[in-house]
Amino acid sequence: MSDICLPKMPSLRLDGRNALVTGAGRGIGMAIASGLAEMGAKVTLVARSNGEIQAVAEAICQAGGQADAVCLDVSDLNAVKDFFNQREAFHVLVNNAGTNRPKSMMDVTEDDFDAVLDLNLKSSFFVTQACVNKMIAAQVKGSLIHISSQMGHVGGPNRTLYCASKWALEGLNKSMALDLASHGIRSNTIAPTFIETPLTKPFFEDKAFLQSVLTKIKLGRLGQVEDLMGAAAYLACDASSLVTGTSLVVDGGWTAE
Ligand code: NAP
Repeated sequence: MSDICLPKMPSLRLDGRNALVTGAGRGIGMAIASGLAEMGAKVTLVARSNGEIQAVAEAICQAGGQADAVCLDVSDLNAVKDFFNQREAFHVLVNNAGTNRPKSMMDVTEDDFDAVLDLNLKSSFFVTQACVNKMIAAQVKGSLIHISSQMGHVGGPNRTLYCASKWALEGLNKSMALDLASHGIRSNTIAPTFIETPLTKPFFEDKAFLQSVLTKIKLGRLGQVEDLMGAAAYLACDASSLVTGTSLVVDGGWTAE
């Protein structure tokens, strides 16, 4: 009989925890919400299209998970405050709602600037602030996950605004991790490469663009939403309890070069 005491694998489960996923009606947010529910979290889905989030919540419940859906525009900061005031503290926040308006920097308008920066950066900041205030008041420790991009680590053609928003998110993440560590709240980003979702589908209709992307993703394929489910699950659960202020890059090798 060996007398070695084997280390115990930290739990990969999220039972008893509340998770909020913004932009959960389709694409990456829907997949992450579904994955967190599969790990036992009670998931709240928010987006503006009520029909989409209701349908996703229903599908999660039918699969044996727990989910509810709340129609919320995260760029309406008063509505965001009201939302958090009416809810119990969340243990996990996935700041996922985001957008892109790819165009050459010479063609960018003030409206484009506000649309991309307001949603990707300003809303992410104030959703997190409201979430964290509630967590701290309730002495809830937890995990913040911001959906950034490989474009938060490199530049990309026609992506001045998008890159600016995601680099800013990376900086915000690092500083938040420092502000929140003493409260037991971790903050990290996930930085995906191009993932096939309703947001990016139209981009890939341009075959030259698709080819240029496939050349840079060294593993030779576009990302699928399933590629991000494990990353989010890891950052949400206790297996990542010493991980904060960093970025989990899921890019098939794009930024390795
Ligand atoms: P998507 O398919 O366009 O889905 C975006 C989701 O966000 C939808 O549910 C949308 O629902 C919601 N949303 C948009 N504006 C909102 C608002 N003001 N308030 C609340 N919800 C809002 O996008 P995706 O491709 O899954 O991308 C999700 C995130 O991943 C974004 O932050 C994006 O930058 C990032 N990302 C994507 C890729 C990619 O290749 N797809 C790569 C790297 C990073 P409503 O319109 O109904 O509100």
